[in-house]
Amino acid sequence: MKITAVNVYPVKGRHWPRFPMFFVEVETDAGIIGLGESLGYKASGIAQSIAEAGATLVGQDPRRIELIWQQLVRQGVHMAAISGIETALWDILGQSLNVPIYQLLGGQCHERIRVYADGFFRGADYVEEEYAAKAVAAVEAGLTALKMDVDEPIASGHSINGVMTSADLRLTEAMVRSVRQAVGADIDLCIDGHGAFDLPSALRLDQALRDYELLWIEDPLSMNNLKAMARVALESVTPICTGELLETRFAFRELFEAQAADIIMPDLARTGGIMELKKIAAAAETYRVPVAPHNMVGPVCTIASAHVCAATANFMILEYQLGDVAWIDELLDAPLQLDKGDILLSDKPGLGVKLNHAAVRKYSAA
Ligand SMILES: [Mg+2]
Repeated sequence: MKITAVNVYPVKGRHWPRFPMFFVEVETDAGIIGLGESLGYKASGIAQSIAEAGATLVGQDPRRIELIWQQLVRQGVHMAAISGIETALWDILGQSLNVPIYQLLGGQCHERIRVYADGFFRGADYVEEEYAAKAVAAVEAGLTALKMDVDEPIASGHSINGVMTSADLRLTEAMVRSVRQAVGADIDLCIDGHGAFDLPSALRLDQALRDYELLWIEDPLSMNNLKAMARVALESVTPICTGELLETRFAFRELFEAQAADIIMPDLARTGGIMELKKIAAAAETYRVPVAPHNMVGPVCTIASAHVCAATANFMILEYQLGDVAWIDELLDAPLQLDKGDILLSDKPGLGVKLNHAAVRKYSAA
């Protein structure tokens, strides 16, 4: 089997016009087409990177996934571009062997992939009653875990010095208390600071919220200083989760060695793809660190992540977007199967889904 073409499809989405989603298809002379997704953020050049890297793969055997990954790394290709291409190669391999990808990764440790809802609050003003009502609605829809942003809605979260004011700290505590009281003790709650705060603010945040039994505090400060993050992880009562911007197991190795994360959140569409997420999870396991993959773009990344999660012993929970664009399910030939807050994967070969090209054309950002 040989690769004949690599195509990339930018599609509008929740973040458009700030940035699109990038879907990747790798075509073969066997008629099998593999599907992947790259997280490009504001880098629209990622489409060009995928196309240029893809052109160097024409004529290669798509089943030599590890070799191709290493070759692309040595060429200096952007890791998000590699991630999308690599995922498509696993889809090809699974289809060629007529098995789901999770079977190729060791089989199911987890038959149900638990998710947490990011964005349950979308459309609500930042007031306690509205967030509480949105949280209850998400729980009634079956979700068992929720995450809320604590930087975006407050002035301190946008301050250039990273200082969280006492007034904003009190408001944050009131919002978390309101959501916790509304959903009860058995629903898991997380908060995300997007790296907005300084070290004293990060520590105060933990002190203010430690009674609410949060599943984690995510990126209370920027993770570009591992020692600072490690101090927060050491001193905080609430577990610290980080790593959504890190690429490959080599970056995560430094995170583990610094003991700067209690939970990690690699993003499959940015960190290096399916096998890289599996390798990062294996490295995390040696530190007894659970894996909660970041997943904030399109449905292909969600499905691909779920395959790795299924086959990963130390998988904890996967991110899932509530309040996304209304047409998100049109992009694939089969909508995501969500049951009582868990993703259920089919036993179809490869990823088990195909891109719906009519929808891709309709919502194209090209
Ligand atoms: Mg985050």
